[in-house]
Amino acid sequence: MTPIVVEADLTWTGASFERGLQVTVAENGRIEAVGALGRVPSQRLPRCALLPGFVNAHSHAFQRGLRGHGERFPEGTGSFWTWREAMYGLVGRLGRVTLRALSVQAFGEMLDAGITAVGEFHYVHHERDNDYALDEVVLQAAAEAGIRVVLLQTFYATGAVGRPLEGAQRRFATPSLDGFLGQLDVLAKRVDPRTQSLGAVAHSIRAAHPDQIRAVYDEAQRRGLPFHMHVEEQRREIDECRAAYGRTPMAAILDCLDGRGDFTAVHCTHTEPADMARFLAAGGRVCLCPLTEGNLGDGIPGLGAPHAAGGRLCLGSDSNARLSSLEEMRWLEYGQRLRGEMRGALADAQGNVVATLLAAATTGGAHALGLDAGRIVAGAWGDLVAIDLDTPSLAGVPPERLLDAIVFGAGNAVIAGTFVGGRWRATSHRT
Ligand code: ZN
Repeated sequence: MTPIVVEADLTWTGASFERGLQVTVAENGRIEAVGALGRVPSQRLPRCALLPGFVNAHSHAFQRGLRGHGERFPEGTGSFWTWREAMYGLVGRLGRVTLRALSVQAFGEMLDAGITAVGEFHYVHHERDNDYALDEVVLQAAAEAGIRVVLLQTFYATGAVGRPLEGAQRRFATPSLDGFLGQLDVLAKRVDPRTQSLGAVAHSIRAAHPDQIRAVYDEAQRRGLPFHMHVEEQRREIDECRAAYGRTPMAAILDCLDGRGDFTAVHCTHTEPADMARFLAAGGRVCLCPLTEGNLGDGIPGLGAPHAAGGRLCLGSDSNARLSSLEEMRWLEYGQRLRGEMRGALADAQGNVVATLLAAATTGGAHALGLDAGRIVAGAWGDLVAIDLDTPSLAGVPPERLLDAIVFGAGNAVIAGTFVGGRWRATSHRT
């Protein structure tokens, strides 16, 4: 088979937008070559600029069914706690059909936002009686929508620190480590290696004992799979962990892993500076979800000294209350500015903030998910997003200011379409 040859007016090289480049994607879905190749384009994208497809490192697709919740809450209570009740109500109603419909809806909306790969942190496993019937639904929905997915199969054993699962939480249950690993083996046979892979993750310190966290982490390492955890999103988790283990969740996790930090911690909203420094020094990555954290009123994390976290950040859409990687990028930066980090917590060594933000939305997420993606280079997956240069929000912007204009001045309307493994999909609001 001949490769597809994509040619846009501008192509992102990793440092700048350049004219006259072509990108070829082989039948196996990987980029074969990038350059002034002189080929006849099979996909000409006039008045468009190509960026690496955005990587969404943290999603719970079913929570798309909660859109419209979480914005209003009684005075004196946290938005999170009323939203949480709605979440458990939805979990109680989920079945294979409803989960698939919500997941296809969420994944399609992600593609419309330029997201070509998603880490689906999946913990609603059972339709009934520990049947794990809902796991494969996520893979099927991703295939139907046409998005690359890393199914982050989630270990979830307790409803809170030291407490059994109750009510709708039983749908999350992974009653034994052996059963959890056996289901990972089942899923490994179901994935389409061209667009699907697995991770093995523990939900949080609330949902897994440190011994269990260590066991899942060790197994993830043995299998070469990414490991993620929710860490310190709410203060209550920290209070309960301190009461049970005499230390913060981040400290408890790092201690149970003997200081190993090769994993992705999601949120870190209330992580203490010393814990954050220890985690980053151990190789840790932080996944922030600014739109969800804002929507639920969780707070804004401190990311430590400038440059320390920059290369280790990734972005997630979490509750999918709003799907826009462009907005996640700029709210990552605005949150730090509003927190008073006026000296540029996110600037790289050259003082470039937008490069850090794009890295969080592309290579950072790809690293967190164990994907060779997020860059337009030979060998990487052929996952690209086409930006329409004729949309009003980008009018009059020269190529050297284009990335800043996209990140800080544009919305999903500029997304013309995406390639996943070289397969083109026009954005639905344009078809
Ligand atoms: Zn989450």
